[in-house]
Amino acid sequence: MAQFLEIKSDYPNALLFYRMGDFYEMFFDDAVAAAEALDISLTKRGKHLGQDIPMCGVPFHAAENYLLTLIRKGFSVAVCEQLETPAEAKKRGAKSVVNRGVVRLVTAGTLTEDTLLSPREHNYLAAFTQVRDQSAFAWLDVSTGDFSVQSIASVMFGPMLARINPAEILVPETLSDTLAEACGENDTTLSPLAPSSFDSASSLARLCDLFKVQSLDGFGQFSRAETAALGAIVDYLNITQRGKLPLVKPPVRESEQSIMEIDAATRRNLELSKTLTGDRRGSLLYTIDRTITAAGARLLERRLASPSTQVTTINNRLSAVTEFLDNSPLRVDTRQSLRQTADIERALTRISLDRGGPRDLLAIRQSLAQASTLHSALSQLHAKSIEEMVKDLVGHDALISLLDNALNDDVPLLARDGGFVASGYNATLDEAKTLRDEGRKVISALQATYAKQTGITSLKVKHNNVLGYFIETPATHAKTMLDEPLSQDFIHRQTTANAVRFTTLELSELETKILNAAGQAQALEVEIFGALCTEIMANGPEIANTARALAQIDLATALADLAASENWCRPKMTDDRQFKITKGRHPVVEAALKKDASGSFIANDCTLSAGTKGDKPIWLLTGPNMAGKSTFLRQNALIVLLAQMGSYVPAEAAEIGVVTQLFSRVGASDDLARGRSTFMVEMVETAAILNQAGDKALVILDEIGRGTATYDGLSIAWATLENLHDVNQCRTLFATHYHELTGLNANLVGLENATVSVREWKGEIIFLHEVKQGAADRSYGVQVAKLAGLPNAVVGRAKEVLAKLESGAAEGAGKTQTLIDELPLFNATPTPVAISKESAVEQSLQKIMPDELTPKQALALIYELKEQL
Ligand code: ADP
Repeated sequence: MAQFLEIKSDYPNALLFYRMGDFYEMFFDDAVAAAEALDISLTKRGKHLGQDIPMCGVPFHAAENYLLTLIRKGFSVAVCEQLETPAEAKKRGAKSVVNRGVVRLVTAGTLTEDTLLSPREHNYLAAFTQVRDQSAFAWLDVSTGDFSVQSIASVMFGPMLARINPAEILVPETLSDTLAEACGENDTTLSPLAPSSFDSASSLARLCDLFKVQSLDGFGQFSRAETAALGAIVDYLNITQRGKLPLVKPPVRESEQSIMEIDAATRRNLELSKTLTGDRRGSLLYTIDRTITAAGARLLERRLASPSTQVTTINNRLSAVTEFLDNSPLRVDTRQSLRQTADIERALTRISLDRGGPRDLLAIRQSLAQASTLHSALSQLHAKSIEEMVKDLVGHDALISLLDNALNDDVPLLARDGGFVASGYNATLDEAKTLRDEGRKVISALQATYAKQTGITSLKVKHNNVLGYFIETPATHAKTMLDEPLSQDFIHRQTTANAVRFTTLELSELETKILNAAGQAQALEVEIFGALCTEIMANGPEIANTARALAQIDLATALADLAASENWCRPKMTDDRQFKITKGRHPVVEAALKKDASGSFIANDCTLSAGTKGDKPIWLLTGPNMAGKSTFLRQNALIVLLAQMGSYVPAEAAEIGVVTQLFSRVGASDDLARGRSTFMVEMVETAAILNQAGDKALVILDEIGRGTATYDGLSIAWATLENLHDVNQCRTLFATHYHELTGLNANLVGLENATVSVREWKGEIIFLHEVKQGAADRSYGVQVAKLAGLPNAVVGRAKEVLAKLESGAAEGAGKTQTLIDELPLFNATPTPVAISKESAVEQSLQKIMPDELTPKQALALIYELKEQL
């Protein structure tokens, strides 16, 4: 307990997994918290200061699952191992406790195990800090070593958190209260650190030490805040990995201007990587992901989260897609090759942390070999962007042939299980193995010799973990064996119910030889494994470049595959404020319609160009519910996003002036309450847009103002629209059911009215999903309500009220009160009489007993009913 308490005092904020034999045990408060989080039983063990000590434990071989649950629930776990065997402890003194120490602190952002990570998603550890008036946000994927930093305005903390979506973020203790809410909303574990972790001078020293450089200038110019955020991450790695640092690539400084700004609400609303209900399925990412490799999938996730604003970057990426689109046999072959590659980024990290195994070596060998094959195949392509990727695929011949010579094709998970080094690679190892194997052969030959010598044909030579090799005869032969002369050679070891066991001098000598040889072979294999890992790490940065190139090629072919099969077009990107989408489609809605064959998607144009006289950058969209307004709004935002991440887009043609900020908001009732009133949330979000959107922004507003009383809502929507038109001057799509707003185009020259058309047919409404110029004539709310299955009585009553209200409205607003008096809305409880009064046909139908009708009577009845209509 003294040892436990001492170790625990170094990790007050983590649960201590204290290794005791085959279990990790937890004590005191740790036990209480873990038992609840893991739903395992809480027991007690011994006493401390006269009190029972609460305890719980998990078996070490199943520890990973428990770890994962704890990490997901926001805990960090210090793993404390036995650093020597009980025998070694005894040697030090009869009463010595086995030495223990924490070998690792497991936290949400520092996982590397394949079993704990989702292969197709990044797992980022981030840090945020402020130094005077500068703020910076740094992030590292511990499992791949990608390390980045960006200076941001401190108000952009939330949007940045949503973009990177780290599993864990480090912040100075002083800021932790301010940032806690945003982290909670994003499901990010917040880890406050002492200010010393963020000290910019020590951070600089830590970084220089890590990258073995005198200054960071070779990687770029980093501000104090940026250095501090990067340094805090390195400090945390030192703490959690206990000095064994993973492979960390040199930091890349991202500039705020080169990435499209998208805030958390917009990401949520556009369902980029998960739907509003939290599923991956049904999100844009899920729909467009055709990548084959895990690293390719992670790259796609990253691109989608941070679309570029640089025309050159975007065009470079698009050209790579075009090359693969134009050459489909090559695309198919390339994708086939990529299937043979493994996740080398993560294998490399495990090796750097000493957590790798022979399978990681094999993965690297196989993938590097594939990369070099791909190099020859892709050398025929000449797009600059592809040439850049392709050149990184080669240069590993020496390493490949080393691994080829050293490794078998079938290897165990752990190096200590042995048997993975190919024969012929190391003479000493081969010798030890021969000795071991031959010894085994000699032993099995001994069985025949002994059977002959003793005359006992059922005599066997066997092996178990307790006795090692032994000779066994049935108990019936015990006497012969135990008497002279056999007892001179056969030494008795054990008697069981049915058998007697012996050994001989010869046998035990052989056994020792085998054991020595096997031990030597195992030690040699572990040593060779270590040497191979060192060799790989010496080539670490180049291997990481190859991994990156493979991911880029995967993504380019995946996007080409998507463009080919879904018939997408290459967008024309410009630096002005063009916006012209011809026959655009919503990729997710279209895919859903295709899947359940419920109809085809109606493509629609959208022109929001700005900057030239006569342009109408704002579209005010009206139309009944269910007509397709939200779909149209979102599809245009998604097309921009796809284009700027470097993908083809679901349209016949698209001309897009680069969008630097993307905003999308939905009316209050679509957003479930999150503490604040929903209307308040809506207004806060609208305020953010009006305050931030510049003239290169794209703004999508869906039913803003809906969360309050009609006239309030209408006035807010009205004023918002005017502000967007006069002040923000950005490209805007604005959907509303306030028809009154359509009159605004008389005053606002940049405003275009558009509507999603519907047709009325015999009192039913048919959705055409076509967007055309003009305003909706009416809202068809009552018809939509009918479609939704509102009782006929209610629909009928609503029609009556609507008719009266409409005629009343024509006579002026003052009439409304009289109308309400005439049409007592609130005491119009629908009595059964009211329903039965509803229609003569229904009354007649109620009376019919179909079982009692002859076909002739039925026909007559149909005529009769028809008359009544
Ligand atoms: P609104 O916002 O006008 O209430 P939505 O955009 O939610 O309407 O669309 C309602 C449904 O209509 C969608 O779920 C989709 O199935 C269908 N829909 C929308 N737009 C189209 C389209 N262009 N082509 C085919 N179906 C569409």
